[in-house]
Amino acid sequence: TKKMRLDKVLSNLGFGSRKDIKKLIKYGNVLVNGALVQDPSDYVDPYNDEIILNGKPVVYREFIYLMMNKPKGVLSATEDDKDPVVVDLLKEEDKAFSPFPVGRLDKDTEGLLLLTNDGKLAHKLTSPKKKVPKVYYADILGEVTEKDIQIFSKGVTLDDGYRTMPGHLEIIESGEISQIQLTIYEGKFHQVKRMFQAVSKKVIYLKRIAMGELTLDENLKLGEYRHLTDEEIALLT
Ligand code: URA
Repeated sequence: TKKMRLDKVLSNLGFGSRKDIKKLIKYGNVLVNGALVQDPSDYVDPYNDEIILNGKPVVYREFIYLMMNKPKGVLSATEDDKDPVVVDLLKEEDKAFSPFPVGRLDKDTEGLLLLTNDGKLAHKLTSPKKKVPKVYYADILGEVTEKDIQIFSKGVTLDDGYRTMPGHLEIIESGEISQIQLTIYEGKFHQVKRMFQAVSKKVIYLKRIAMGELTLDENLKLGEYRHLTDEEIALLT
């Protein structure tokens, strides 16, 4: 594999700024293949050389894959002038990889948000051609009926005239406030809300619970996140 400067490898991994890392190396905190390396400009093979920083082995990776339980009030973006963004919720060491959200959830929507710096995977999951299923849980004001299930299964015409692909609607409980699960295969702006609007109903709570083969880890509290496991990454790629 390609060789990289030692200080770049360590700063890419989020161990500090290039300046901090240079100091760490100069002061003798880094071993490469068992030998002390004190020159930050030395080249290493990040995947195959054994790099030890402060006594701990460093595992190099290029890509980062995070699953977040997005809370309300936070934008699915990397930066914004006035609102907090999901990237603000990440630890510095993860932010160092410059992850971005894969697709968008509305500011008031909760649940599964994948963040990665793997552009190819992001494209694969968001390209309309791939028809990746997205599963949402929602509370709906008003009774959701068998008729709605049928309408959704044929595709719904939204307020702008766009006709959606068929969606799979399941009623968990119907009443003054209904609980439903909806699976859609595309991601138009406010799609779930607008599909219900098309049948004169209002979404009052919305949470994404799955995207492709990836399901939200219910142990994650709102605003928490974790790295995907190797198995989960394999399911997506
Ligand atoms: N559909 C919506 O209306 N909002 C979301 O955040 C996601 C899907």
